[in-house]
Amino acid sequence: MVIKLLCIVSNITLCFLFFILYPLSSVLYPLTLDTRSTIDVRILEIFHPKELTVTTCSDTFSIALVGNSLLVNSAKKTMFFSRNETTIAIKDKIKRTYRGTIKIYALMAELVIINRVSIEHYCASVVGAEMGIASFEAWKAQAIVSRTYLFGNLKRHNQYDFCDLTHCQVYKGRESETDTAKNAVEETEGMFIWDGNKLAEVYYHSTCGGKTANSSSIFKEANESLISVSDSNYCEDSPHYRWEWNLSYADAPFKELQVLKRALDGRVTEIKVHGVKERGWKFRMRIGHQFGWNKLRSSWFFVEKKDTYFLFTGKGLGHGLGMCQWGAKTMAAQGKTCEEILKHYFPKLQARQ
Ligand SMILES: [Zn+2]
Ligand SMILES: [Zn+2]
Repeated sequence: MVIKLLCIVSNITLCFLFFILYPLSSVLYPLTLDTRSTIDVRILEIFHPKELTVTTCSDTFSIALVGNSLLVNSAKKTMFFSRNETTIAIKDKIKRTYRGTIKIYALMAELVIINRVSIEHYCASVVGAEMGIASFEAWKAQAIVSRTYLFGNLKRHNQYDFCDLTHCQVYKGRESETDTAKNAVEETEGMFIWDGNKLAEVYYHSTCGGKTANSSSIFKEANESLISVSDSNYCEDSPHYRWEWNLSYADAPFKELQVLKRALDGRVTEIKVHGVKERGWKFRMRIGHQFGWNKLRSSWFFVEKKDTYFLFTGKGLGHGLGMCQWGAKTMAAQGKTCEEILKHYFPKLQARQ
């Protein structure tokens, strides 16, 4: 009886501890931080490959898409799977090596290639691909921002976590996993950007053009923690600091264009296209899809009608939210630490373990 009673009491105590400590721990350490060690990345989709040469540690396979079927060495299969480091080549286009596992299958007349990779290897590859030549403190800042972005955006795509393009973060497998990138990831291990006790919503972009963006200039719903900061001393060496684009009337998908509203951070927030109002960032994205991302490079632009074309003049490349990569490079070159760089771009947030 006494033993039974003790069991009941200890069970109640355990339940009590569980309900008290579980929510507390999930606030301090969001569940995603300690339960996921790998992520799924869809790779090489941009090439829409129909044929691949896949080399594993034991063999080389020729993989083809015929109709909606997957052929592995000419035999029909539902899936190809490689457990170890794998090299994938698309003839005359690209050859890349990936850590982790590779799964290939056919879906809606496309070859889907999924790379399951450890988070730290993914981060090292992303940091190497995203930062380029820079002082080490800028690499560390990129590692912390990329890691935070990763955990805040798992399952960004329905069937997998991330694509390998700028839509998510640029990922090139082992190719961009440089020693500097690996060191930056190692030295910042476990560091994230926090918004109080919550993992922060963070962004980065190539060049802000002199001032980063307020989130209300880009998104319908503003995040009060993502605010505009002056960056005029830092990113002016970027080739995207100032730009021009001529769009001929013949090529333009509109005849009339009028900027209606501009935010304090310079970005166009409302524009009239053919008499229809559109959000400035949405307009920039639409034009980017149609003409490429290097034409109307940001929503910080001005437009004039010339004889035969629209003249767009603008500042920066990307949405302008959060960390400006060109600015971070200059700050690091001037001797600023990774913490100082992050404090500059995220003044309301905290970088810590
Ligand atoms: Zn994506
Ligand atoms: Zn900048």
